[in-house]
Amino acid sequence: MRGLYIGRFQPYHLGHQSVLLEISKEMDEIVIAIGSAQESHTPENPFTAGERAEMIYAALEQGDLRNRCYVIPIQDINRNSVWVSHLQSMVPSFDVVYSNNPLVVRLFSEAGVDVRSPPMYQRDLFSGTAIRNLMQKGGDWRSLVPGAVASLITRIGGVERLACVSRSDTSTQFIL
Ligand code: ATP
Ligand code: MG
Repeated sequence: MRGLYIGRFQPYHLGHQSVLLEISKEMDEIVIAIGSAQESHTPENPFTAGERAEMIYAALEQGDLRNRCYVIPIQDINRNSVWVSHLQSMVPSFDVVYSNNPLVVRLFSEAGVDVRSPPMYQRDLFSGTAIRNLMQKGGDWRSLVPGAVASLITRIGGVERLACVSRSDTSTQFIL
């Protein structure tokens, strides 16, 4: 059986990792779809699809899980009614979708796909939004992502990028 797990992974965090480990117990293979793949360098979507794929592969390094996963970027089409078939045209076939996102659950259910919603893993702590806020405030975001992801974000200057794309050109920091 093959499962599909979809997210934006801005960034990939330990909540995602825990869900993925649970899915890996139920499925032989997992398709990890990186949504809003065209987005990057914005406060809500700081990382490119390629960087997000690197985060996921880096986090999957241990064990056989990596060999059982496909990581595939999916661009938005901004047309929810045909989004499921758009996604299906871009990924290997799958039997079950795992998601907690209400819109994603709704769209796959209406398309007749088997959808499972895994239990949330400390959602107050492990959320992309909370982690991006901590990055902005100089808080401890590193403990909320896999170690390899923290290293990658540091290597590519992710925190500085997020700070930069969140500033406006009326900021007094630039006198231009
Ligand atoms: P953002 O706040 O940027 O939306 P996110 O943490 O919701 O980030 P997504 O990439 O949007 O991350 O989520 C992908 C999938 O992972 C969604 O189905 C989401 O509900 C799920 N997910 C996110 N955090 C957790 C968590 N702590 N435990 C279980 N599932 C989670
Ligand atoms: Mg989300």
